Amino acid sequence: MKKCILTIIWLIVWLLLWILYILFWNSSIVGTDTYQTDFARIEKAIIDKEVHVQSIQEIQQLIQQASQQKQKVSIAGKKYSWWGHTFTQNGLVIDMKNFNEILDYDRDKKTITVQAWITWWEIQSYINKDNLAIQVMQSSNIFSVGWSLSSNIHWRDPRYATIADTVDSFRMIDASWQLLDVSYETNPELFWSVIWWFWLLWVITDVTLSLQENESYQIKTLALNWEDYNSYLKENVIWNQNIGLHYGRFSIEKWDNFLKDFYVTNYSLIQEEWDNTLQDEKWVLRNRFFFNLSRNYDWWKKVRWKLQQAFTENLKWEKKITRNNAMNPPIRFISYHSKTHTDILHEYFIPIDSFDIFMEKFRETMVKNKVNLLSITTRYIKKSEKKVLLNYNPEDMISVVFYINVWLWEKEQSILKWYTQELIDTVNNLWGTYYLSYQNFATKEQFQSIYPDFQKFEKIKKIYDSENIFSNIFYEKNF
Ligand SMILES: Cc1cc2nc3c(=O)[nH]c(=O)nc-3n(C[C@H](O)[C@H](O)[C@H](O)COP(=O)(O)OP(=O)(O)OC[C@H]3O[C@@H](n4cnc5c(N)ncnc54)[C@H](O)[C@@H]3O)c2cc1C
Repeated sequence: MKKCILTIIWLIVWLLLWILYILFWNSSIVGTDTYQTDFARIEKAIIDKEVHVQSIQEIQQLIQQASQQKQKVSIAGKKYSWWGHTFTQNGLVIDMKNFNEILDYDRDKKTITVQAWITWWEIQSYINKDNLAIQVMQSSNIFSVGWSLSSNIHWRDPRYATIADTVDSFRMIDASWQLLDVSYETNPELFWSVIWWFWLLWVITDVTLSLQENESYQIKTLALNWEDYNSYLKENVIWNQNIGLHYGRFSIEKWDNFLKDFYVTNYSLIQEEWDNTLQDEKWVLRNRFFFNLSRNYDWWKKVRWKLQQAFTENLKWEKKITRNNAMNPPIRFISYHSKTHTDILHEYFIPIDSFDIFMEKFRETMVKNKVNLLSITTRYIKKSEKKVLLNYNPEDMISVVFYINVWLWEKEQSILKWYTQELIDTVNNLWGTYYLSYQNFATKEQFQSIYPDFQKFEKIKKIYDSENIFSNIFYEKNF
């Protein structure tokens, strides 16, 4: 009996240790003042200094000094980017942390002017009382507005192309430390060319954005044969102004069912006004535990998918939600600080009719390289009607977004690089594109072939930053 109790205690202790290990696997690695690393902890540098600027004048002085001392300048928002976007070796980092105020707001015109470090969450918290909502942001609301413009972000609302559709004007400081007011009316060419490239040309200080009503939606999920996805989009989503949000999700269950089961979820407009109280993220530790299981164990991916299926199919899940709450999805649970592994997000944009060809190739690549896929979702990205430089959606596209867990070791990183280049070739052959800021693996030839506007960008960089003051590791490795 005593032996039995001891064995049970022993098992409980092991179980607790295992849960702690899964939850907090390797503690956080934080940079020092001068040691900087990116969100994935892949690129690293020792910088000269980081300044938490307080005013426009201070930024102008810093750029002037850097220019005189021939020092490189990088800009940091919330620092969630991968691949060294926010620093460079021996450079100066302008941290925008104190640019976090709402400068102007007009309920009737549905516009808001915010400083660049403000996050979508702060804007939502401010405008929710008036039942207004953001038009375009990322799939999470933790990022800064400054960055969001600089990579022309997009998300899941099929009615908009990218954030470029929603920017009224902005102010920025260029390499000759001038403060410029830019809008479509005052300088259309500059307006469209800078969206995507702020971080290499200037410091954005504030932005005026258009808002919209905080709609109420009914969420519906249905199983679909993934080969019918393109026709499903054409018949049900692309023309449909009643769908406020749309995405698809593939099974990551290995291997028989891998990337075969597929669900689509639509958030359709309802007239009923739903409770608009902003919800906080719940169950962070529980969800982190389960997500960590997915990183470590294939059997859990199977269980997770079966649970999701049961939830979707048996319960015929239908839920109602406001736009602001739909645009406030859980994110804190994915936080991860392993010393040996990291999570990486990639995204490819495929012309709608080539989606099945891409998916066949994608599946083959994932299986051949035994990729530890954590999630894969799809979105519909409307063709951009704007003249944004380095457009990733020159026609209607299906975006394929996937999240993977990879080793930080050099050998595994080179495998990642190799199969990423292979995927980029596939995309290129199908007239698709890839999301620039998510990776620096593309060769120069691949980059220039997919983004032929590149030469225009070089010209603009020469005009506005002839001494190449603005830089970062991502830029230096790629261009
Ligand atoms: C889990 C997750 C989900 C994501 N989902 C999406 C998505 O759905 N859609 C999407 O498009 N992206 C998505 N992203 C990518 C996200 O947009 C970027 O990671 C971005 O880094 C977030 O902004 P940040 O404030 O952390 O920028 P930072 O990492 O701080 O900065 C990134 C770049 O922006 C520049 N920058 C920042 N502020 C300014 C400024 N004021 N002036 C000039 N340049 C500036 C910096 O110099 C740097 O080059 C996702 C990222 C994660 C981690």
